[in-house]
Amino acid sequence: MHIERIAVDESVGRTMPPGLFVEALSGRGVPVERVGDDEEFGPGDAVATFGHRDAFVDADWVHCVRAGYDEYPVSDYEAAGTALTNSTGVHGTTVGETVVGYMLTLARRLHAYRDAQRDREWDLPRYTEPFTLDGERVCVVGLGTLGRGVVDRAAALGMEVVGVRRSGDPVENVSAVFTPDRLHEAVADARFVVLAMPLTAETEGMVAAPTFEAMREDAYLVNVARGPVVDEADLVAALDAGDIAGAALDVFEAEPLPSESPLWEFDEVLVTPHVSAATGKYHEDIAALVRENVEKIAAGDPLTNRVA
Ligand code: NAD
Repeated sequence: MHIERIAVDESVGRTMPPGLFVEALSGRGVPVERVGDDEEFGPGDAVATFGHRDAFVDADWVHCVRAGYDEYPVSDYEAAGTALTNSTGVHGTTVGETVVGYMLTLARRLHAYRDAQRDREWDLPRYTEPFTLDGERVCVVGLGTLGRGVVDRAAALGMEVVGVRRSGDPVENVSAVFTPDRLHEAVADARFVVLAMPLTAETEGMVAAPTFEAMREDAYLVNVARGPVVDEADLVAALDAGDIAGAALDVFEAEPLPSESPLWEFDEVLVTPHVSAATGKYHEDIAALVRENVEKIAAGDPLTNRVA
């Protein structure tokens, strides 16, 4: 493979200003160009993009500027021999900090005070409502970049961390690692359950009514993975029934979350618009990843984060 230009698809604008990204990629010998919907591709082309377009499979290499590539037809890339890479590895700090923020907000009741502030109300919590993260248990499902970003920060705050991973192998700062078939045991004693796995055939709908029944009634669900890993109707039912205490949700079955969704209404549900990884330095992080792979191609080395 020999890369002659890097085409930056306009769709990257969903996560960062395309101009800043182009600037961060430029000046390294390979021309960088912004392209629109009607651009066609051929040998020598690399494409950096948010979403998939069929024309991309004619390029030599496509880089997805997100970690999750569940919307890409991976088999089409494989059939065409087009390399597909993703952006896992860069979201541990951003998402880790956001998840700790959700947990601190819910434990220290900051959301309730902010809601009361809108009405200029000096609203005191019930005596038993506030708690500390210190000493509470969190269960992290998926112990990759996101999961470990959460694990290390939760452990630093004195939380007891358990986790779920397919291999069941131990992970630093995680006191017990369960395999996915033992999900209900893993969540049973946790005050927070954090979802950080990819959306796959195996994880779609993995968290549903039986999981909420297995969880504590004072537990919170945190989803920074992908909406469809949770059965949203079952989640609403569990919140309505008081099977769990609340949730912090960054991702949804349908995005933007429709205005008629009941999830907007719960006092104990934090809704964020798929921004847990947002940072004003995203263009730098992703450009570094793309540049690393441009160098690897030139050196004939295998690509980092290759998924097809
Ligand atoms: P990663 O590949 O580093 O880690 C994912 C981990 O989940 C891997 O260790 C994998 O083995 C594990 N896993 C797969 N199936 C599992 C299962 N059934 N049970 C338990 N673990 C399982 O990816 P990452 O960078 O940590 O991102 C994870 C996912 O989070 C992405 O695929 C993406 O969908 C989502 N994500 C969301 C945001 C956001 O803005 N909310 C940002 C980045 C990533």
